[in-house]
Order: sequence, then C-alpha cells, then structure tokens
Amino acid sequence: MEKSARVPRFADSHAHLNNRDFDGDIHEVAARLTDHLILNVAYDIPSAHGAVALAERYPNMYAAAGVHPNDVEKISEADYQTIATLARHPRVVAIGETGLDYFRHRTGADEQKAALRRHLKIAREAKKPIIIHCRDAFADIIPILKKEFDPAIGGVMHCFSEGPKEAEESIKLGMHVSFAGNITYPKAQNLRDAAKVVPPEKLLIETDCPFLAPQKKRGKRNDPSLIIETAKTVADVRGVTLEDLARLTCRNFEKLFLGIQPKQAEIVYKIRNSLYVNVTRECSNVCDFCPRLENPTVQGHYLGIDKEPSAAEIIAAIGGQRPDEVVLCGFGEPTIRLDVVKAVAAEMKRRGLKVRLNTNGQGNLLNKRDIVPELAGLIDTVSISLNAPDQATYNRICHPQNKLNAFPALIAFVERCRDTLPETVVSAVGPIEGVDMDNVRRLAEETLRVKFRLRQFNMVG
Ligand code: SF4
Repeated sequence: MEKSARVPRFADSHAHLNNRDFDGDIHEVAARLTDHLILNVAYDIPSAHGAVALAERYPNMYAAAGVHPNDVEKISEADYQTIATLARHPRVVAIGETGLDYFRHRTGADEQKAALRRHLKIAREAKKPIIIHCRDAFADIIPILKKEFDPAIGGVMHCFSEGPKEAEESIKLGMHVSFAGNITYPKAQNLRDAAKVVPPEKLLIETDCPFLAPQKKRGKRNDPSLIIETAKTVADVRGVTLEDLARLTCRNFEKLFLGIQPKQAEIVYKIRNSLYVNVTRECSNVCDFCPRLENPTVQGHYLGIDKEPSAAEIIAAIGGQRPDEVVLCGFGEPTIRLDVVKAVAAEMKRRGLKVRLNTNGQGNLLNKRDIVPELAGLIDTVSISLNAPDQATYNRICHPQNKLNAFPALIAFVERCRDTLPETVVSAVGPIEGVDMDNVRRLAEETLRVKFRLRQFNMVG
C-alpha cells in the first residue's frame, strides 16, 4: 500500500501472502505494507510454515496455523501435532483456517466436521482464537460452535458469506465477523446488509488474498493494499468514515489476536466530523445494552478514563480543531459534571462551534434544580436517551439509581428542553426484547412532540 497521509492504517484479518501466487514478489509486496497489520492464514501444513516464516521476518505480520476444510481428507495425526506445536509459537496468534465447505465438497462432511473439532480443541488448549471458514454449511457449523467454541478466547467467521440473520447468530456465539472483497460485488446486498448489524467491537475486514479481489480489480490477484475497497464499502453501509472504520478494525484486530489493551483513554475523540468529549465515566443508570463497564470503547476509541478531566484539560485536548459539532457526552452522564459541561460549552460557543449535549435526561434530578435555563445559549441540540415507553420498562432495562423518580424526571426534562433550547431529540436503542419501539416513538413524537431517533442496538457513536 502506498504510504500517504490520506490512507489510514488497516488491519487485514485474513490474508494468504504465504500462497504461491506471491512467490515471485512477496518481499516487494511486504515492503509496501509495513504500516498495516496482516494475519497470514494457513490452509495446509506447508502454508502454515510459510505464514510463520513471514511473521518471523516482518514485525507487522502474524500467522495462523491450520488446514482448510477442503484439504483435510489426508490430514494425519502428525499434522495435528504440527498445528498444536505451531500454536505455541509466539507469532502464531490464531488457529485456522478450519470449518466446513459444502460448496466445493472436495472432502466429505464427516471428515470436515472431525477436523473442525480437532482445530477447536487445539485453539482451546492454546487459548488462541479460531478462524472459521464456512461455505454453504451454516446450519451444520452452528451446533458444533455452540458446543465446542470458547467465546472467552474468541474467533472469526472469516469472509462472511451469509445475511444479517446469520451475522447476528454468529455474534450471539461470541464470534467476530470479517468481511472480504466480495462485499463490493454488485449482487452482494446480503453481505452489505449483514455488515450493518455487526456491533462495532465484533467487526473485522480482510482481503483473503490472493483470492476475492474487490470489484475494481475483480479477477486479478488480490493483495492487502486493496483492503481499502472493502473498507470503503463497509464504512459506507455503516455510515462512518474510512478513518473510523480503519481505526475500529485495527483496534479489534489488536484486541482479539494480540491481546493489546490501549493504555491511555481518550478525553476527546472524533467520529465522522464530530468531536466527542469524554466528560465522565459516572452514570446514574446501568443500562442493559451499555458497554460502559465491560468494554468502554466507541468505534475503536478507548474511553476507560481513570481520572475525570477538568474543563481546562478538555479544552486543551480539543486544541484548534473545528469539527461540525462538539458533543458533550462520555461513557457516563455528563450533567453529573455540570460545571465542566457549561465551561467547555461556553468556550466552544465563543469559538462559533455547534454544541450538542448527550444525556440520560436526569440532569435536574441529579443537580436537584432546574438546570435547563443554564444550558440556554450554550447548547444547540440536546439529545436525550428515552429508551422506554413507561417507567416500569425504563426501570427494567436502564436500572436507574432513583427508580421512583428517574423516568418522570426524564419526561419533565424533555419538555423543559423542548420549550427552552433550539433543538431537542430523543433516542432509543433498539430493537430490545420486550420494548415496543412504536410506543416509544409515539411517546416522543405525539406526546412530547420532539424528534425521535432509533439507534441500532450496540451501535454507539
Ligand atoms: S445512560 Fe448512557 S452511559 Fe449511562 S448506563 Fe445508560 S447507556 Fe450507559
């Protein structure tokens, strides 16, 4: 990939630079890719050794050891021992590719299933993620994964070739879902629909090179520099920028395969052309769908602050940036730190920037006074999480500290903002089992007379 300030760093979660198609120019190809993370995946024993050799030579490359389901007919016990030995190599970060392939059907289903189970066992013993190849075999593979895949270790449904329902089923098992160049093909609408429903923390992209070149180079040899085409398509269907998508998928690669946790939480972070401010980690709710406590990450930005930032620190972190809007939020409730919210908002307004406040609507309850007049002139848009059509449902899914007063206070806050501030929007995360989103919408639009936005479950930011 040509080095350029405009090309972000990508993570290719499934490449075969260990394939003979690269024999003639592997080192030239590798030299163009040094900024990018690449996992070279084995499909037989020689290619496993090839992947390890590349990983030993290039610091940005890693290896996966395993035998492709269509090549397991002649797999021997010695081969499994080789995979298990390679699994302990420090540069081998995953086991695979393994799985079921009924499209080519070069190997019988029973042999494929037996090999899949052996690979899963090696992955569990080595505590390394599994790379699953599944072609026309989804119904058969799920029961095996349900029984023998360890979600605590993780794994990837590589080159995902099913629709949104199957993507959701894979996520429920604890799998990551990785999209390849075929998502760019005109007829692959089911893949683009699937890419919309994968939660950010489970999303990966890959080339599967030298195969599956994206539409622009279809039929030609694929290589990791072409991952940008897949990334553009996935970013487009998810409504994020290429930079957002690249950052997110690199973060997911690092976490899943390398076990890397970011050391430093971000105070200020960019998504699309909005600048989000991580005001606080404290919240008066513990919503069922909120990743705040377990995985405080939004679109690849790590937000697990161990010290809450002062207004001066936030303003310094914003520096001279001029985004479309500054969003005061956090993985928590920003009105808990009302003074900081007001100080940062005042400075942003002085600079002529638009300011939005994302809140759970409990600001008056938490501050024991009507804070809405204090926000006038500082906040252009207030975005309030409603999430439920009534108090009982709200208490059940959002678990507010103050079960008696939180929902009525939220409703009164919406009305006060509607009558005082330039724009008030209420949102709900959905779909959530047992929550009638039509009723939430009616409460917002008909009773409260404000705009309503349904946010996809697990899509934050
Ligand atoms: S109100 Fe927002 S920050 Fe607080 S727990 Fe719910 S989703 Fe998370």
